[in-house]
Amino acid sequence: MDRIKLIRKKLQHLKLDALIVNSLVNIRYLTNFAGSNATLIIRPRALSFITDGRYAEQVSTELFPLPGLKTFIQRDVVSCINKHKLLRNCRTLGVEADHMSLAQYNRLRKALAPLKLKSSSGLVESVTESKKPDEVASIRQAAKIADDVYSYMLGFVKPGMRESDVAAEISYQAKKRGSEADAFDIIVASGPRSALPHGRASAKKIRKGELVTFDFGCCVNGFNSDMTRTFVMGKANREQRKIYNTVLDAHLAAIDAIRIGMPCKDLDSVARNIISEAGYGEAFNHSLGHGLGINVHEKPILSQRAGNSVLVENSVITIEPGIYIPGKFGVRIEDDIYVSHDGNHILNTSPKELLSV
Ligand code: ZN
Ligand code: ZN
Repeated sequence: MDRIKLIRKKLQHLKLDALIVNSLVNIRYLTNFAGSNATLIIRPRALSFITDGRYAEQVSTELFPLPGLKTFIQRDVVSCINKHKLLRNCRTLGVEADHMSLAQYNRLRKALAPLKLKSSSGLVESVTESKKPDEVASIRQAAKIADDVYSYMLGFVKPGMRESDVAAEISYQAKKRGSEADAFDIIVASGPRSALPHGRASAKKIRKGELVTFDFGCCVNGFNSDMTRTFVMGKANREQRKIYNTVLDAHLAAIDAIRIGMPCKDLDSVARNIISEAGYGEAFNHSLGHGLGINVHEKPILSQRAGNSVLVENSVITIEPGIYIPGKFGVRIEDDIYVSHDGNHILNTSPKELLSV
């Protein structure tokens, strides 16, 4: 209910009479519903949940016991709103601009006129940045599963295996250990493919002497983890070691620098300066990290484009500097950090020195 309360406060502040939530991730956060079709309408004193007949049984057991919550089993949202007068006396309705399609928006606007639709971007997302203890516990558990899987995989991966087979094994091992789903498409990128920051696992076979990057995350209670490690298949050469250690220095220095209230831009600079001074500034071609929670990428973004945003207490962020040499190889190291008043808690425990496998 605390989550709904926070949204209601926001509605008041934004002078909205109601908010219609159609992002399934946000609906899960607010109601615990994990199905594939739902709409939630939040008003100051009413809460309506609409889904279709497939979920009639599921909603009776799955939804949080939210005071005043009424559920409606009806496929058509507009008819349901009209039939049950769910927006009676409502003048301004906020819609999730980042999640509602143009077709849905037009249909609502026409059907609900003269009610005014107001595009509200990131409203639910704005209350998810600062995490509650149980939310951090879920991310911590998701990070622990990733650590356990990584440790298992170091004994599993061998030269000659296809990246895609290795990725399938990561997914399987994570689910066996309690992950609800892969947080995102698993990255297994070897040799020259490790120079692609988002190189999804391909049919390429991993060869001796190559650097291999794993980037994957697990999911517990709807909360995600996100970890990257790079190791060498066999023995690393001098250039691989030099670049690896530069990324590691940048990663560790950034984690050390994390402070509540610090501009996100400045944190990015800590890592970026180290990599630039080593001569690889151009080769670090993405942001330092991002917020992590019900979405794998949430606020804040840690980059030079972060504007005035600062690190918020109780947020969980990733620190993931990288260096990518096209045609040769790449290195990235990523951990999840819980930013709390009593210091920074690194949620991953997998080793960070360059491992030979
Ligand atoms: Zn990642
Ligand atoms: Zn990440």
